[in-house]
Amino acid sequence: MSLIGVISDIHGNLPALNAVLAALVADGVDRIVCCGDLVGYGPWPGEVIACMREADIISVQGNHDAATAEALPRDWFDHDTGSVIEWTRAIIPGAMVAYLKGLPQTVTEERFTLVHGSLRGPLWEYVRNTFTAGENFALLSSSLCLFGHTHLQGGFVRMEGRIASLNPAHKALDLLPQAQYLINPGSVGQPRDGDPRAAYAIIDLQHCWVRFGRVTYDIDLVMREIKRAGLPSRFADRLARGR
Ligand code: ZN
Repeated sequence: MSLIGVISDIHGNLPALNAVLAALVADGVDRIVCCGDLVGYGPWPGEVIACMREADIISVQGNHDAATAEALPRDWFDHDTGSVIEWTRAIIPGAMVAYLKGLPQTVTEERFTLVHGSLRGPLWEYVRNTFTAGENFALLSSSLCLFGHTHLQGGFVRMEGRIASLNPAHKALDLLPQAQYLINPGSVGQPRDGDPRAAYAIIDLQHCWVRFGRVTYDIDLVMREIKRAGLPSRFADRLARGR
């Protein structure tokens, strides 16, 4: 069980999730873990939850998951985002709302910790720079934390007291035993780093490397479905730009 697929921020985008799962299966991963935000923005929240459960993917709770389960106040979100959260809560069965509510905010395993935003603020903090990364490295007892929330693929490394950003363009990055890592697989369903393709990462815990991946999917279909469902069209338009 050493080859792990890492996904995050699916946001109700089923075609993107299916494309990523196919890529991970083709790469022979032993298991898949998720850094949260299964729902919000996208038109297939129930189908995404069903797919995650069927594939036995463990996930932490994202801020959109918590808000859909009424575990976060609506006024944490802007009007359009809040409207999709309410639409999602109305369209999925009560058992799925309960599933989102029951997701843990942190999962700690022997080799890694899983959070949505950060160790310090699992539901709210965005780790976008080395300063915030440093404050969270101080809370990390293992060598590896997997996170999402920013929708930016990459992450940070701390070695000998110095913190640097990781470049996701690297083919495969060795995980050095003397270093600690915050790894962000990027967003499956709504990338914001200028690359519209669905994002993921693969970590080999035995041979100690991480590889960032991207895969194409039918973005036009998702854009049409967002508009057909009556969701705010800006959530469709941004998919084409990856921003
Ligand atoms: Zn998100």
